[in-house]
Amino acid sequence: MSDKSLVIFDEDKIQLETDRIHQKMKHLGWSRFDCEVIAPVTLEINQLKKEQNAVILAHSYQNPEIIFGVSDFTGDSLGLSRNASETEAEIILFAGVKFMAETAKIISPEKIVLLPSEKAGCSLADSIMVDDIEKLKKEHPNTPVVCYVNTSAEVKAASDICVTSANVVEIVESLENNKIIFVPDKNMANYLQKKTDKEIISWNGTCIVHEDFSPISVLDIREQFQDVVILAHSECPPDVLDEVDLVGGTSDMVRYVKDNPDKKRFMLVTECGLGERLAIEFPDREFVGTCTLCPYMKSIRLSDILACLKSPKPY
Ligand code: 13P
Ligand code: SF4
Repeated sequence: MSDKSLVIFDEDKIQLETDRIHQKMKHLGWSRFDCEVIAPVTLEINQLKKEQNAVILAHSYQNPEIIFGVSDFTGDSLGLSRNASETEAEIILFAGVKFMAETAKIISPEKIVLLPSEKAGCSLADSIMVDDIEKLKKEHPNTPVVCYVNTSAEVKAASDICVTSANVVEIVESLENNKIIFVPDKNMANYLQKKTDKEIISWNGTCIVHEDFSPISVLDIREQFQDVVILAHSECPPDVLDEVDLVGGTSDMVRYVKDNPDKKRFMLVTECGLGERLAIEFPDREFVGTCTLCPYMKSIRLSDILACLKSPKPY
């Protein structure tokens, strides 16, 4: 399907929509013409959304035209699912990956949940199955299994507790047990082990986006910019995390930028979408350094969202 809307909108409406989108997207170098091309599609999506009483959630890694063109909420996976559960919407369209749509369904079982791309998997969620959890439980009897939210619904059901990157340390610390099984991210497990005296049994899953960052790119930026604050996702390798100023999930990074208006320059060691989102929301800050694209997140286009609302295939 092409990125074109099949509905004809009057010229004034298109110009107003173009202005609305351009106001945001100009910070990423989008021309007014670029925005005019997508305006009929965002108009049609927003119209269908109202007609169908749907809410659109966009993870911070999502394409910016989705975040600023059609989403109602932007944030991390659990926060978004909570946002949607608090609305009267009957339909949740999740512009994120499969485990996020599943999380939204777990939290709002009465709502219809739609995922616009079949390609939207996740290397972490795909790294562990229920059989692996059962095996770990046999190897380590009476040890609670803590799973990261980046897991399938089946793995969550087989685990004892589910955590996010934002609350993993706090929740593990609150458990009585001195030994914990943490799955599936080995880098997050390593980070957790440094933050707790408990013994952490880990799995060997990794995020294909975060495992590729190296300390050299971080040290290079530190050398170039004396004032830079470096924030990294806890899915990054340990030698990267050792060099940064803050380790956490995407919501921790957003909060840090928001709460520190005196800091003007940041490096975000994570997926590119977060830096693009924050460059638009905080135009007085500068975001430097390299980032990486998540092919699963970026598999979703505006045209997929339009097609999904026109022919919904509920979860
Ligand atoms: P957050 O839960 O921190 O938003 O991270 C989601 C994710 O997929 C990280 O790669
Ligand atoms: Fe999964 Fe990594 Fe993509 Fe997040 S960035 S969805 S953890 S592959």
